[in-house]
Amino acid sequence: MSQIVEQLKSVLGADNVVTKDMAKYLRGSEQPAAVVCPGTGEDVAAIVKAAAEAGVKVNVGGRVVDTAGLGGGIAVVTQRMNQILEIDKDNLTCWVQPGMLHKDFCDSLLKEGLYFPPEPYAVGTSSIAGCFGVGDPDSKSFKYMPPRTYIIAYEMVLPTGETMKIGTKCIKCVSGLDLIHFVSGTRATLGILTKILTKLLPAPVCKSVVVADLPNISAAAKAFLAIQKRRLFVTRENAITAKLGQNILSGAKGAVAFVDIEEFPKANVEYAKIVEAELKIAGATTTKIITDPKEYAATELGWLKAREAVNLNANKVRFTVGASNVVKGLDAAQGVVGPLNENEFTLIEAQLGKITVATANPDADAVKLNNAAMKLGGNVSGLLGSKLRCDEYSDTAMFDSITQLLHNIRKEFDPKGILAPGVKF
Ligand SMILES: Cc1cc2nc3c(=O)[nH]c(=O)nc-3n(C[C@H](O)[C@H](O)[C@H](O)COP(=O)(O)OP(=O)(O)OC[C@H]3O[C@@H](n4cnc5c(N)ncnc54)[C@H](O)[C@@H]3O)c2cc1C
Repeated sequence: MSQIVEQLKSVLGADNVVTKDMAKYLRGSEQPAAVVCPGTGEDVAAIVKAAAEAGVKVNVGGRVVDTAGLGGGIAVVTQRMNQILEIDKDNLTCWVQPGMLHKDFCDSLLKEGLYFPPEPYAVGTSSIAGCFGVGDPDSKSFKYMPPRTYIIAYEMVLPTGETMKIGTKCIKCVSGLDLIHFVSGTRATLGILTKILTKLLPAPVCKSVVVADLPNISAAAKAFLAIQKRRLFVTRENAITAKLGQNILSGAKGAVAFVDIEEFPKANVEYAKIVEAELKIAGATTTKIITDPKEYAATELGWLKAREAVNLNANKVRFTVGASNVVKGLDAAQGVVGPLNENEFTLIEAQLGKITVATANPDADAVKLNNAAMKLGGNVSGLLGSKLRCDEYSDTAMFDSITQLLHNIRKEFDPKGILAPGVKF
């Protein structure tokens, strides 16, 4: 092992190969032989090639690397590769390096009047390559589509150390099997992204948010369904228990609704009035339309922090039922975890059709909630759908053959099994 560490020092420079005090770069209990900080795609290729030759495991992260399965391997931190390389305002695209923080990326684009909608939970710490590595849909995806639609070309170091380049600035550049978007959600199992071309949108001209205090989460869900039926294309339509929603609407007592709108100014005003009316019909005791940019930003931050608090709760179970079934999904959840009024960590992201609840028995209740969700056309979301293997409904033969297919694809990319060892299909 010391041989590969010395080899990497000679390629990257000793300063970029850390072997002591590695904790700040790591998540998990296993210890790598070294944390390495490449500065270029060529550096990444050299690292992976050396690891492949030595049969050493490798994992990658923007700021922090998951050490699962990595014992004695190499943790690649891309924090030095953190620049926007090109913004093309006419084609609405941007070449970016993998280690730029998601938030920094979005903020830099906004200064240019441009918008990158995907919104990770850990918005302050996720990297832009991590956005596509994870690929999860979020609260805004109903309107703007999930991250995979925003990667249109990339450069990626394969587990053999070779570099793959694919995609162009043209939206119509794939006919047939689409290997570009396929990379989204693969969590570094197929390669390490070293350069990404993202699709962009023009920044919203006007933002406003309607917040309200409703008697409970179900009342919020009913209001959201009514808003959906009015065919308003709002950005996020979410609600959280009042205890966690105080930074969104101070003094709220039941459930706090957060509905934001990104349209042209006149449409914003009209949409906000209709949203407010529907929230009142559903029993809102307080409503507020926020248009002042500073107040909007503070309220949005309040929402993001409240969502993070729910996400950090180890006893949560998350499941999706589709935008039209949230009311029924909440009823089903009450049947499993008891009255939601007493459940401090309840959150709905209504357009995503997603419900998060807390429970004292997350493992057992996840199975029950999955079964309930599947009756409504959804499921407990899990890495590569693996949680779908819940007893009552799953087709185990189908599950096994799909899993085998994924294993075969992974093996084709990574014959020695060196990349992202902690990611299990
Ligand atoms: C749109 C969106 C929605 C999300 N929704 C949820 C949610 O509902 N609940 C939840 O708990 N979490 C959610 N997440 C995940 C979460 O917010 C963070 O994105 C994630 O925890 C970041 O983890 P990290 O610190 O490991 O980041 P990163 O270091 O950014 O890594 C994230 C993943 O990407 C891989 N990766 C990193 N760099 C590269 C690279 N250069 N090439 C290839 N792969 C790479 C990593 O190995 C890891 O698997 C969401 C993420 C996104 C993008």
